[in-house]
Amino acid sequence: MPPDLDGLIDSLTREEKLSLVCGDTDPAGTATGYLAGVDRLDIPPVRFVDGPLGIRVPERQSTAFPAPIAVAATFDPSLAVAKGKAMAREALAHDQDVLLAPALNLLRVPQWGRSFECYSEDPLLTGAFAAGSVRGIQSEDVLATPKHYVGNNQETHRARVSAEMDERTLRECYLPGFRDAVDAGAGAVMAAYNRVNGTYMSENRRLLTEILKQEWGFEGFVVSDWYGTESTVAAANAGLDVEMPGTHPDEMIGEITDTGESAVDFSELADGMPDPTNVGQFAEPLADAIAAGDVPQRRLDDMVKRVLGGLADIGRLDGHDPDGALDTPEHRELARRLAIRGTVLLENDGCLPLDPATDVALLGPNIHDTALGGGGSSETTPVVETTTAAGVRDRGESVTCHQGHSHIDDISFFDVVAGSGGVSKTADLAEEEHDIAEAAAVAADADVAVVVVRDRVTEAMDRETLSLPGKQDELVETVAKANDRTVVVCQTSGPVEMPWRDAVAAVLLQWYPGQADGDALAAVLFGDAEPGGRLPVSFAPAEAYPTTAEERFPGIDHRAEYAEGVFVGYRHFDREGIGPTFPFGHGNSYTTFAYRDGTAVDPNTVAVTVENTGDRKGREVVQAYVKPGTSSVERPVRELAGFTAVEIPAGEQQTVHVDLDERAFGYYDDGWKVEGGSYTVEIGRSSRNCRETVSVERPEMK
Ligand code: BGC
Repeated sequence: MPPDLDGLIDSLTREEKLSLVCGDTDPAGTATGYLAGVDRLDIPPVRFVDGPLGIRVPERQSTAFPAPIAVAATFDPSLAVAKGKAMAREALAHDQDVLLAPALNLLRVPQWGRSFECYSEDPLLTGAFAAGSVRGIQSEDVLATPKHYVGNNQETHRARVSAEMDERTLRECYLPGFRDAVDAGAGAVMAAYNRVNGTYMSENRRLLTEILKQEWGFEGFVVSDWYGTESTVAAANAGLDVEMPGTHPDEMIGEITDTGESAVDFSELADGMPDPTNVGQFAEPLADAIAAGDVPQRRLDDMVKRVLGGLADIGRLDGHDPDGALDTPEHRELARRLAIRGTVLLENDGCLPLDPATDVALLGPNIHDTALGGGGSSETTPVVETTTAAGVRDRGESVTCHQGHSHIDDISFFDVVAGSGGVSKTADLAEEEHDIAEAAAVAADADVAVVVVRDRVTEAMDRETLSLPGKQDELVETVAKANDRTVVVCQTSGPVEMPWRDAVAAVLLQWYPGQADGDALAAVLFGDAEPGGRLPVSFAPAEAYPTTAEERFPGIDHRAEYAEGVFVGYRHFDREGIGPTFPFGHGNSYTTFAYRDGTAVDPNTVAVTVENTGDRKGREVVQAYVKPGTSSVERPVRELAGFTAVEIPAGEQQTVHVDLDERAFGYYDDGWKVEGGSYTVEIGRSSRNCRETVSVERPEMK
């Protein structure tokens, strides 16, 4: 029997209702966000915990899974389900109820400091992983919180910037991932810090109430981002349901000065943090606003009902308190499998895979680290980890490790917050020159040189450039001169420039692989596994992206003009005829595939025969792109409409079906419209590697 929520709400006092919509301090100290619950009526406390890489509980450990961008690189949404389930079980083991994941903002800006936390530059791919993640998390009776709704596509000024975009851009690019998450049953949604078209998301009635709740039928609750509730009356009436964190822990902001400000200097973060003293909007001020008639009582009841409805859905109103499980063998294995599957073989002249007996020089500033992620609220602390060097040394028979460059230190906005002297962006250059010469000497003595490079990012800041920090480019160039079998392994949050691309034999992209770093790399390097990943984001030089002009990014006077419209990522490169360094969807295999017999099965499905023509088992991601052709509005040259990942043994063939998403045929003009007629669908290995072309007839849809 579903609980009688209306009856329960009638039994609550106004103070009790407020305690269900305004955060409080967790007495256990484990939760990132906390609602006290109402003991008298058996409404338990609610604990919110960060993802989306793994579970972040201060001073406690959890499985450190690969970053979501690596998960998206698998092009296999069932892995988002598996990761969601595993994270939820770990959240339960830490006694948490709501997971602040998945993160669904599109990768509009390549320098974005949180690109690793999100999935892709493509709305369809994002939506598929969003839905998978939500289903996985909630199947374990933990609520998922897709975030940050919407337009949080940069960190610079994220607390104030207004994402200025037209309706079509919003509908075709930035909303679909959230829509798919809501359709998958998400119990909560987190409002972003930023403004959209001038209005803070915490106060954006059109996006929170009219679109999310009324149009999409979202019945869960909208929670603010931390310290991101900009007002009481406007936010409550716009549709914000829960304020977090509601109180401010002193360690976060230090003393409050006489003028009511935090003693911590956040200026280095360029509005990357909202005012952390701005808390308690949904406490007494909300009670006052209701008493004054500025916020209707029924709005508070609706806020409460949404929270209670979420708790009912995960059984918490019936005393259901599942145990969960932490760091199980299955979770370790999943972390490893995801890291392998998400690794993209960008380039290979045949050097890879290596025979384990090969004499390998393993070089790079951080080879003795594990690439767990970027800085900020997604930081995880694993129970076990395999550093890059440990994994490669264990599997290889003859591996010499040499750092060859001064260590690239992590950055985290928490360091700024903690007042530890800010974020250092420079390394000791004199030392590096010496190290690089030594690294080249080690490389010259080996059969193969493997150079592992990395970027450094954190939430609350964007990268300044797409170049690798320090002298890593010089390290790669010098090593490549010393050894013509040089393999570069990139551990990065997203796109980086590769000026040495033509000088090296192979490039592997691991993103942030998480705790299985070295194990996963060794498996791929030595050919125990196929690097199965494909790019969920285009790689190009910084100036080739559509966000180069200041008014687009980071914006002028806190307005970022999304003037490129729907031409984000590969849609931009295709429109401008720019050849990216590596296109969206790209990724090589250790084997080869032939495509033939592409057919349209029906208006929603295409099929193609794929043959593994090499001599080892391989994983292929068959991608289908719709080419809208001439239309009454300017359309992208091609849009991803579907994809299917398959594993095919050597010499065998398989008929692969790809379901096509209707939205790829349509465009938004006061509702989705599909022009009737014949559409070309490209079936192939990437957005720029079409192998078969078929024609699909679509009826008109208005
Ligand atoms: C981030 C959210 C996170 C929250 C709680 C905010 O700064 O934007 O993604 O869930 O903090 O840690």
